[in-house]
Amino acid sequence: MADSRKNRNRCSFCGRAEDEVGFLITGVNGFICEGCAVQAYEIVQEAMERKKKDAGVSSLSLDELPKPMQIKAFLDQYVIGQDDAKRFLSVSVYNHYKRLLQKDSGDDVEIEKSNIILVGSTGTGKTLLARTIAKLLHVPFTIVDATVLTEAGYVGEDIESILTRLLQVADYNVAEAERGIVFIDEIDKIARKGDNPSITRDVSGEGVQQGLLKLLEGSVVNVPPQGGRKHPEQKMIQVNTKNILFICGGAFDGIEKKIAQRLNTHVVGYNAVRNTANVDRENMMQYISPQDLKTFGLIPEIIGRLPVLTYLNPLDRKALRAILTEPKNSIIKQYVKLFEMDGVKLTFEEAVYEYIVDKAIECKLGARGLRSIVETIMMDAMYKVPSEHKDALVVTLDYAKQELEKSNMARLQNA
Ligand code: ADP
Repeated sequence: MADSRKNRNRCSFCGRAEDEVGFLITGVNGFICEGCAVQAYEIVQEAMERKKKDAGVSSLSLDELPKPMQIKAFLDQYVIGQDDAKRFLSVSVYNHYKRLLQKDSGDDVEIEKSNIILVGSTGTGKTLLARTIAKLLHVPFTIVDATVLTEAGYVGEDIESILTRLLQVADYNVAEAERGIVFIDEIDKIARKGDNPSITRDVSGEGVQQGLLKLLEGSVVNVPPQGGRKHPEQKMIQVNTKNILFICGGAFDGIEKKIAQRLNTHVVGYNAVRNTANVDRENMMQYISPQDLKTFGLIPEIIGRLPVLTYLNPLDRKALRAILTEPKNSIIKQYVKLFEMDGVKLTFEEAVYEYIVDKAIECKLGARGLRSIVETIMMDAMYKVPSEHKDALVVTLDYAKQELEKSNMARLQNA
């Protein structure tokens, strides 16, 4: 009896005998039970996924990646205007792919990265551009806010925590994170406060820029896996930033004045705008140069590491009007959809759009104001309509005016 038990066929993986499992598959030199086969299948699947991820963009050929014109066309669907910024961004992303795919051709030509800086007032679409481009990227991408960064030793987050977010989106796959793109928003908030280099370091200024410089230049940094502050017991992950593309964005409030000053004092010479009478005073941003960033308080080394400088235009009436209805995900389309879900066909009189734009300009809220104004106009209807069993709602100018005036406009103005 004991002998026959010994001679039973067993799974070569878990060791269970054939009468202890549901099914035993026979191989040349062993057996596998159904439980181990299922587990093996899962392990293989996971490994294949990981392999695919590791290969990332390098598993694609340049032909399969979107070309700059395609990237821009995609951005056009969501972001109104800002053609220059879109072109610069599209080219930067495409060049980033090229750099990742470059093979050692033995000719010593190594494509270096071109980090990029976008300058434009709040609410002109910097973050929107970054978010939109993220939708079609083939590399890990994250948006971080420079305002929370402080120099080591102060309250706030270490500069290296920028890379924590990238590691997180890459599922802690270091190789993948090392090819990613980071959008650093509000870079202007770490500008030096005075124009003169300070002797004592300021918490949010130069020290942070020095730290950031290390990342932009490309170096191996120790990243706290959970972000925040480093502490001695924490195990660090080493990340090489050589191939990480950095896109910085900032409002640089008041930089127009500095641009104007420069234009007035440098009317002659290389690169000067020859005829100051032709300067478009409404949009000084278009004349921005690296020198203005320096005057604003970025250290020259940082500026040198952000070789692509581009700007976003202030949004005029026409742009605001277009933002209301034209983007694929426009504010009005979102409300139409909300009502559609209740079986109500929502339409607006053309004059309502003009009225909303007028109010947004009046409140000086730019594109950010559009949503709060539409929300205020639609609030009452959103409250009542789902219980009224209507099948259509037309928002007239009178209705819009009445709703907005009824609500506290002062509240909007203070937003
Ligand atoms: P910024 O980052 O420049 O301060 P955002 O990108 O956050 O501004 O813009 C705020 C909101 O305004 C966006 O969510 C979007 O609805 C709208 N918006 C701003 N600029 C544009 C634009 N050029 N095209 C479409 N929508 C825009």
